[in-house]
Amino acid sequence: MSTHNISKNGSLLNRAVLVLNTNYAPLEICSARRAICLYYLEKVDILIKYNDEVHSPSVTLKIPSVIKLKDFIHHNSMELILSRRNIFHRDNYTCQYCGNKTGPHTIDHIIPKERNGGDTWENLVTACAHCNIVKGNRTPEEMGMALIKKPVRHNRIHYFQQFVGIKQTDWRPFLFMESLN
Ligand SMILES: [Zn+2]
Repeated sequence: MSTHNISKNGSLLNRAVLVLNTNYAPLEICSARRAICLYYLEKVDILIKYNDEVHSPSVTLKIPSVIKLKDFIHHNSMELILSRRNIFHRDNYTCQYCGNKTGPHTIDHIIPKERNGGDTWENLVTACAHCNIVKGNRTPEEMGMALIKKPVRHNRIHYFQQFVGIKQTDWRPFLFMESLN
């Protein structure tokens, strides 16, 4: 195998794969590497493949795009865990005060913690270090700082939709982005 093939395989194997429950409910995103592994372990069926192939000396394989579990997983929440990373994702890695996209990013409590602002989707936003320091322990109103958009709770569907690019159009029906027929 050439080094070209190895590096090409490497990036393809990191491609995002949509994992569905047995009832087609979207569960998570995994890497193509993991999806292929699950397939060989007979844990999943491959519903849709990308057009891109990975090559080993003996096998050529189209990489999976959407896979479905063979055994149902009990997972009754569409809630997305509240985490720094998911707040950054929601805000598209953009400071919600000045629009700066270059990091490092921080998490700002709109109503400061010291003033009983909670750790909630509605009270946490992405801020650049500069804006976070300037704002300090004050509210945006006190500082005359406006938020670019009102922070809202994100659910898992929003989360999945962020992975949908030009190569993931096949995912759309599974993510309620268009009708299933
Ligand atoms: Zn900023």
